[in-house]
Amino acid sequence: MMAQYLALKAEADDCLLFYRMGDFFELFFDDAKIASGVLDIALTARGEHSGEPIPMCGVPVHAATAYLQRLIKAGHRVAIAEQTETPEQAKKARGSKALVGRAIVRVVTAGTLTEEALLDSRTANWCAAVGEAGGGFAIAAADISTGDFVVIESDRANLSADLARLGAAEVIAAEGSDAPVTGHRPKPDFDSARGEERLKALHGVATLDGFGTIGRAGLAAAGGLVAYLDHTAKGALPFLRPPRVVQSTATMAIDAATRESLEICQAQGGARAGSLLDAVDRTVTGAGARLLGQDLAAPLMDRASVEARLATVAFFHDDAGARDRVRGALRAMPDIGRALGRLAAGRGSPRDLGQLRDGLDGAWRLGESLDRITDAPELLKALAPSLRGHGALIDLLQRALVPSPPVDAAQGGYIAAAYDAALDDLRDAGAGGRRAIAALEAQYRESTGIAALKIRHNGVLGYHIEVPAKFGDALMAQGSGFTHRQTLAGVVRFNAPELHEVAIKVSQAGAHALAAEAAHLEELIATTLSDREAIARTADALARIDVAAGLAERAAEGGWVRPSLVDHACFEVEGGRHPVVESAVAKSGGRFVANDCRLSPDSRLWLVTGPNMGGKSTFLRQNALIAVLAQAGSFVPATRATLGLVDRLFSRVGASDNLARGRSTFMVEMVETAAILAQATPRSFVILDEVGRGTSTYDGLAIAWAVVEAIHEDNRCRCLFATHYHELTRLAERCDALTLHHVRAREWKGDLVLLHEVAEGPADRSYGLAVARLAGLPPVTIKRAKSVLDKLEAGRAKTGGIAAGLDDLPLFAAAVQAEDEVVDELRAELGALDVDALSPREALDALYRLKGLV
Ligand code: ADP
Repeated sequence: MMAQYLALKAEADDCLLFYRMGDFFELFFDDAKIASGVLDIALTARGEHSGEPIPMCGVPVHAATAYLQRLIKAGHRVAIAEQTETPEQAKKARGSKALVGRAIVRVVTAGTLTEEALLDSRTANWCAAVGEAGGGFAIAAADISTGDFVVIESDRANLSADLARLGAAEVIAAEGSDAPVTGHRPKPDFDSARGEERLKALHGVATLDGFGTIGRAGLAAAGGLVAYLDHTAKGALPFLRPPRVVQSTATMAIDAATRESLEICQAQGGARAGSLLDAVDRTVTGAGARLLGQDLAAPLMDRASVEARLATVAFFHDDAGARDRVRGALRAMPDIGRALGRLAAGRGSPRDLGQLRDGLDGAWRLGESLDRITDAPELLKALAPSLRGHGALIDLLQRALVPSPPVDAAQGGYIAAAYDAALDDLRDAGAGGRRAIAALEAQYRESTGIAALKIRHNGVLGYHIEVPAKFGDALMAQGSGFTHRQTLAGVVRFNAPELHEVAIKVSQAGAHALAAEAAHLEELIATTLSDREAIARTADALARIDVAAGLAERAAEGGWVRPSLVDHACFEVEGGRHPVVESAVAKSGGRFVANDCRLSPDSRLWLVTGPNMGGKSTFLRQNALIAVLAQAGSFVPATRATLGLVDRLFSRVGASDNLARGRSTFMVEMVETAAILAQATPRSFVILDEVGRGTSTYDGLAIAWAVVEAIHEDNRCRCLFATHYHELTRLAERCDALTLHHVRAREWKGDLVLLHEVAEGPADRSYGLAVARLAGLPPVTIKRAKSVLDKLEAGRAKTGGIAAGLDDLPLFAAAVQAEDEVVDELRAELGALDVDALSPREALDALYRLKGLV
């Protein structure tokens, strides 16, 4: 057995091996140590290997799903080795001591789950592969729970942002790739020519042209992904729809740090609660919630597509009646996308068919009601036909299935009466037999005079007669007509010839009926799957409608407005609010203060100062979130909004806010800030919150100063910059598109009142001590701080403070230009030097000349 185990373990590679033994999956060696730790189950030992006891632990098969879930969550992958024959079959084939044959039937990984119990119904579960070819990069991703399949044409610069947008549960790449992934697979799997062949074979097409243009990197990624899915499913490749090809540039680029800091789909710590998605989500179906998550993760760059979505939201916003009807209808519909995914993966149940029947029927009715609306927006009109395409299938499933079919097909009972006359006959025979058995029971009671006599059924004896023990002896007697079968503590069991005869009929009819049902099930599944593309499109349409109606509901609830999108780089928000902070403030009985934000070409960088806790971060983020919402096709929390499309969104928070999460924060802050300076374009939107705070005052101020200048002069993007470095306000004099703003605060009777109101101009003072008092610092400490402050301020008045002399600095552009000139001159001088031909004396002269240049 160990030899078989070790062979399977070698095949399982770096996965934990679940080795089936009867009613348990057993784990051995290091696997057992890992699993017992993660699962908190007993680690035992069994036998010996190389003189050492073998560590072992096991989980019962019936509860395996829950254990799998915990292992997968903990980042493990699990190979499942099942028994491929029964012990009897093994003995028959290979003698009495034969080992039961086993094989790995599946590899369970975070990205390849289809079990309902393991998946969150409101989140898509992507498995992604990164492909590289000819210097290009692409990502292929599949959600095998629904068959969704995308190819994202990316490049080196956008790869991380594209992966972050996807938020895949698992990312693989070819061995040797330095892409940020969770696992590697053999290089040949990622060959682009092979990938093309794989895709063609998968979809049974001669050319991929019908799917849009997929570049070589895309083919490499898709090939690698399909090979991996094939590997995990051990040849039973899950259902994949034709790939949708997405250009990375078709969506707003938002890198991982920005997503994290804006908490778009996940709040700090990874929970959905507290995220923008959670604050916006009013969808009523799992598929709708999944699509909304994808929409918010990938705001669009194409105005026409955004407008089409907005028009649909506007329609449901304005017509509350239609909205309620549609949402009511959707709420009652099962998740047909995932039911279809399970059927296609070969793990479908009669219940999944029932869900498809009800879902498609619901979709049909919804389609009909939408068709009756005359002024429906284009997107809705375009979706309506795909809601009503399955009349024949619905009809078939309605005739074939009982109203609520069971999850477990083994017991039968899911095919409806009158669907198949032969099945009905078998069932009648079974029922007739059961009636005959009931009659026999009555007859035996009478003939024996034992009122407590019963006819029972169990798996071992089949139908049998049971009497209380005290009557046993009487029936044992010759001539009773009963044959003794079993004596238990309280009862004695018998058989009888008439009963035996009827019982055989009943069980034969039962077995035949089960077989007939199974055959129907197989046929129904095949018929359904032949329509799977169209069913998947219906599921998409339902999800899209749910998203639109849900966003309309949210907008109506919060008094949100439809944003106008324009081409020039403006950003005008009146009465803007932060959806997450607003509800938190409301919950604690407060009132959220709405604020305007007006960025335009001559005021594209706002420097926001003001006391801590004054509302700077909230103001910055609410505007970034409004950009995300608008381009995702949602109304926005404001009274009016006119926005120029944003191609890249960046959000950075100064290091000390991150300290709680224990990173080497200043370094991270600088790396992330560097990325902005390298990537932000005039169409980008950047929010920087206290950048430079993670180091000493002088360093911090210097860095913040230089970053503001660089953004203003070089990147020229729209930017909100919050800082407590009051000295930065001097930048207003030298940067003409930079304007000063502050969050207002007042001292009232010695207390600080934070007004959370954004106003023009610099903050008049820093209020640090007042905030300290507000936070409960003891009065003596405050008093002491006050005297230290007075001293410092006196010093500043005398010397000009830490920013003294900054005004003499040449302008950023001039400084950069001067450096450029030096570099040019150096280049020219060095270019003219023939180093090998120089005498020592000439070399020395040249060195002096070069030194004179810098
Ligand atoms: P800062 O960045 O200036 O330190 P924050 O933006 O973190 O301040 O805001 C601190 C707290 O003030 C928030 O958690 C929230 O409770 C409250 N707050 C912020 N902005 C507003 C607002 N516009 N209206 C009402 N309360 C607000």
